[in-house]
Amino acid sequence: MAWDVVIAGGGFGGYYAARTLERVLPQHSARITLVNDVNFLLFTPLLPGAAAGTLEPRHVVVPLREQLDRTDLWLGHVSGAAPERNELIVDSLDGRRHELRYDQLIVALGSVSRTLPIPGLVEHAIGFKTLSEAIALRNRAISLLEIAETIGDAETRAEYLTYVFVGAGYAGLEGLAELQDFVSDVIDLYPRCRVQGMRFVLVEAKERVMPEVAPDLAAFAERELRGRGIEIRTNTTIEEVGERAVTLRGGEAIPTRTVVWTAGVKPHPVVAQLGLPLTDGGRIDVDETMRVRGRANVWAIGDAAAVPDPTRKGQPSPPTAQHAIRQGRRVARNVAAELGAGGAVRPFAYKTLGVFVDLGRHQAVASTMGIKWRGFPAWFLARTYHMANMPGTKRKLRLLVDWTVSLLFSRDTSELGQLGHPPELEHPRAEAADRAASPTT
Ligand SMILES: Cc1cc2nc3c(=O)[nH]c(=O)nc-3n(C[C@H](O)[C@H](O)[C@H](O)COP(=O)(O)OP(=O)(O)OC[C@H]3O[C@@H](n4cnc5c(N)ncnc54)[C@H](O)[C@@H]3O)c2cc1C
Repeated sequence: MAWDVVIAGGGFGGYYAARTLERVLPQHSARITLVNDVNFLLFTPLLPGAAAGTLEPRHVVVPLREQLDRTDLWLGHVSGAAPERNELIVDSLDGRRHELRYDQLIVALGSVSRTLPIPGLVEHAIGFKTLSEAIALRNRAISLLEIAETIGDAETRAEYLTYVFVGAGYAGLEGLAELQDFVSDVIDLYPRCRVQGMRFVLVEAKERVMPEVAPDLAAFAERELRGRGIEIRTNTTIEEVGERAVTLRGGEAIPTRTVVWTAGVKPHPVVAQLGLPLTDGGRIDVDETMRVRGRANVWAIGDAAAVPDPTRKGQPSPPTAQHAIRQGRRVARNVAAELGAGGAVRPFAYKTLGVFVDLGRHQAVASTMGIKWRGFPAWFLARTYHMANMPGTKRKLRLLVDWTVSLLFSRDTSELGQLGHPPELEHPRAEAADRAASPTT
């Protein structure tokens, strides 16, 4: 009888778990099923490139069906679980409910943007975590330039030309840097806006930007961004977000139509519906082998799980793709060991190899195995690293082509927000009424 191994979530952790299981489990010994709500893996380190128009949106994702050979991809939304019956509850895209039975379950459902109870935040701010948010941001930047160009009053126009990013971790910093790079590339096409200029503000509650990297590298990144005219407000929080302004603590109001919220992540809310133990931070409580406490056949990895960090006693692993990938590979081997396919169940062991923060304009900061890099060499290293990690030769080549094209040509300013939203066909009755109303010739 073949075992049923089910993986919930096909991001970095889930995808690498499936790939490793395909390799380590003997043919026909197990059915591997991967449940995901989209049929691709989003390669998040390249999201700022998609927002800035240097990369085609389709080139920052990895189609799961192309990359997985022996895994059944099940497209649907995980909505709950019954661990006592070994069942995962999945709603398929057409709304049918399924109970997927498993012998071993790996939960890798990732995270969502962590919001705070700030008035107006949910209504007016945009996140920067999904492909739709990244593309919406790019489209919005172009629409706002188009609108601003039609406004005569400079004060009102300024609202449309100001961007406020909240949260100076690497996602916020890269997103802001790439977007500014994009806008400064295209602004020459908008004469009124060019004369007035753009304003970019980065707000951070902590005392410095990018707590993930060494202070001297963070200081380099800060100098680089300030040199481009980006205002950086550390030790600052926001009090309210409105349609036309954001108010900082202390009462200063910055007129803006765009607030981008990049102030951290929290586990996907559905993990609280799986009947599994959670830590105070809401991540799934697992031991060092990534087995869920009290559940012999359930494992959890990535941003959704509090996997003990082998290098920082008592702390969970940071929510990074580097960790999720290694946890995916290790958990697959642990599951294989549990099913008697060889090896032993081992704890997760990994030390961060490096951090790369792309600042656009051929600038970056990086720290790899104790060596610090900045400027062009860091930028080159960051791109090489991301390309090396992109699964599949075809996809690596696509990145290379996009990057080369963006070095040689200016960026495209078409605003294609209408893609995927076709107009409805006109109802025949309305057409007949129109004909009746207009005289025939
Ligand atoms: C802009 C940005 C830049 C980043 N850059 C870096 C970087 O340079 N280096 C780095 O190491 N990390 C980076 N990260 C962090 C990294 O993306 C995450 O840590 C990593 O994706 C976590 O992997 P995961 O498998 O836990 O979750 P994910 O990769 O998020 O995968 C979760 C999967 O589960 C699916 N899912 C969620 N809910 C459901 C549901 N109910 N039903 C079915 N499927 C569901 C999701 O669609 C997704 O496919 C970045 C993140 C962002 C937002």
